[in-house]
Amino acid sequence: MSGNAVRREAIWNVEAYVPPAISFNGAEAPGEIFGLNVFSKTVMQKRLPKSVYKSVIATIEHGAMLDPDVADAVASAMKDWALEKGATHYAHVFYPLTGLTAEKHDSFFEPVGDGSSLAEFAGKTLVQGEPDASSFPNGGLRNTFEARGYTGWDVTSPAYILENPNGNTLCIPTVFVSMTGEALDHKTPLLRSQQAMGEHAARILTLFGHENQNVVAFCGPEQEYFLVDRHFFLARPDLLNAGRTLFGTKPPKGQEFDDHYFGAIPDRVLGFMMDTERELFKLGIPAKTRHNEVAPGQFEIAPMFERGNLAADHQQLLMTTFKAIAKKHGMECLFHEKPFAGVNGSGKHVNFSLGNADLGSLLVPGDTPHDNAQFLVFCAAVIRAVHKYAGLLRASVASATNDHRLGANEAPPAIISIFLGDQLADVFEQIAKGAASSSKGKGVMHIGVDTLPVLPTDPGDRNRTSPFAFTGNRFEFRAPGSMQTVAGPMTTINTIMADSLDYAAGVLETAVAAGTDFDTAVQDLLTQIITDHGNVVFNGDGYSAEWPIEAEQRGLANLKTTLDALPELVTESAMELFERYGVFNHREMHSRYEIGLEQYALTIGVEARLSLEIGTTAILPAAVKHQTEIALNIGALKAAGVEADIAPLDEVSAPITALRAGLATLRAALKSDVGHSALAEAEHARDVLLPAMADVRAAADALEELVADELWPLPTYQEMLFIL
Ligand code: ADP
Ligand code: MG
Repeated sequence: MSGNAVRREAIWNVEAYVPPAISFNGAEAPGEIFGLNVFSKTVMQKRLPKSVYKSVIATIEHGAMLDPDVADAVASAMKDWALEKGATHYAHVFYPLTGLTAEKHDSFFEPVGDGSSLAEFAGKTLVQGEPDASSFPNGGLRNTFEARGYTGWDVTSPAYILENPNGNTLCIPTVFVSMTGEALDHKTPLLRSQQAMGEHAARILTLFGHENQNVVAFCGPEQEYFLVDRHFFLARPDLLNAGRTLFGTKPPKGQEFDDHYFGAIPDRVLGFMMDTERELFKLGIPAKTRHNEVAPGQFEIAPMFERGNLAADHQQLLMTTFKAIAKKHGMECLFHEKPFAGVNGSGKHVNFSLGNADLGSLLVPGDTPHDNAQFLVFCAAVIRAVHKYAGLLRASVASATNDHRLGANEAPPAIISIFLGDQLADVFEQIAKGAASSSKGKGVMHIGVDTLPVLPTDPGDRNRTSPFAFTGNRFEFRAPGSMQTVAGPMTTINTIMADSLDYAAGVLETAVAAGTDFDTAVQDLLTQIITDHGNVVFNGDGYSAEWPIEAEQRGLANLKTTLDALPELVTESAMELFERYGVFNHREMHSRYEIGLEQYALTIGVEARLSLEIGTTAILPAAVKHQTEIALNIGALKAAGVEADIAPLDEVSAPITALRAGLATLRAALKSDVGHSALAEAEHARDVLLPAMADVRAAADALEELVADELWPLPTYQEMLFIL
């Protein structure tokens, strides 16, 4: 089929598409299906002996060490439950450093001597698995001859049933470590960091008179994504293989009308959203908010916040579910940070707070934050952490794909700063001068229509340009990319918070022991933190041209690309920090750094090869055909004695020449030998491949505007973004 026919057919298919019917009815009402497929506390309470249940809950709720004796009882109950739910297999699910989810499936049924089979699932099978680790990135943590990797049951994240038309699977969330116990995954360090943060938060609470508190980190991830009709998706090898378009001019109509954000959701998309929510509910994932996003074809889902570790697992499961259900509705769900150049990209905001069921969020200021000392200590700890470890926060969101988004005036800049809002900023300004004695109160908004109520306004406005913004009861880290797992950023936030809380607790404990009155000690601590770290507070416009200049004067780093940010992981101070809180040892930090470089080079390498292939085999032939037709036309006109304008031929020939040259450069760049160090390959990707791809794209995009539509081989931005 010619390029044009593929596109025509795609459009026709989109038009003729009838969404599959879905409904919430009878036993499938939302309230009834929530958690239906989860081996939840309620299920455990029903099915486990009382003592076993109590022991498991002590681990989940209070972080107690898991009693190995309970595993057999839990495994047996879990197996019975799973078999009743139609499961035939079980899988240890883990989160390797590719950022994806991995699972190894095994059957419950084991043959017995007489030719029949028996469903077996022992405690040791629940607790530990041994997938071959050799095909997952390890950044030098393992020699290839030591292929062993172990998965270990994470009791704090419940097992669940994953449904599939061909059979159900019991999924068990696990950590994934090497033979020596070093982390090969994202979950292990997240759990370690949670433990460290909790320990030091509890010390602060003890000082404020709340003894024995188990403090956890909460995370509410907001996921942005694009939906594209699958016919277009399949006709775009770049989207299919790299997750983003490597070619394409801006459509005549883009997002400048702002008519998509919060607009009515198209029926087909709404059908998809309802279907996904139903599946998420079954898995116990509390999907809550859904709406359109800024760009055409872009949407957002925000589940309710949960404990960080659970939120991270749920977030991974959400992405898998979205991909599968989009397909069912004839669409592809794109999680790439920048699928379309010149169009808004996608992020995954990580809303962070800490607290527990007893005390709620410890980041709630109340109406008069100036006299809420406990809140101010936690808040000051965040300010110190973000200032001191801005580089690590930046590194935690570094990837080749997120580089397209950060600093492009649609996402926060790569400069890490904190937004506090009017009220809190004012309180901390008072603290810097000595002590805070007042809080700016809530205002009221007069709308000017008598029948409308007077609406209260929040004491602080929102700031969409800040990478780390206080939003009333939590901080919102806005820099993470849409494709990332939240485990990485959460691990960093927990660890730097552990450091700040440890520091604050130390200062207060020492002062109190020396006989200083507690209020004075708190006051001094706050004043000192805001004096040393107040530079990171910025309430202005992060997109403005002045901010990078001001930030530099304030001594805030601007680590623009992944390769600028990754070295932050292996500074002496970073390695000392992560080691001190038992989150990563030196070797693990080095491995993360190496893997970051590897993934960067691999991502760009794939894109470069795709650019070369699509440019050479699809775009150049179409352009040449168009050029030939113009040339033939000029020849025919001349032969007929008509005066022919050769300008159109020149116009299309110039970008064809540029495209040929660009492709030749790219081909040579891909062949050049850059040695085998991960750093050399990553630098080659950034300094040679990316610019070469940009030249190829510029020529190809110029051609898209010239070549006859019927010859153009790729679905256009117009088609992909507006036809759903
Ligand atoms: P926005 O208006 O910022 O886009 P959304 O409602 O889309 O907000 O998402 C906000 C996210 O923040 C949700 O996931 C929500 O559950 C989460 N959230 C709310 N309160 C807290 C909290 N105390 N700690 C962590 N996350 C929270
Ligand atoms: Mg939102």
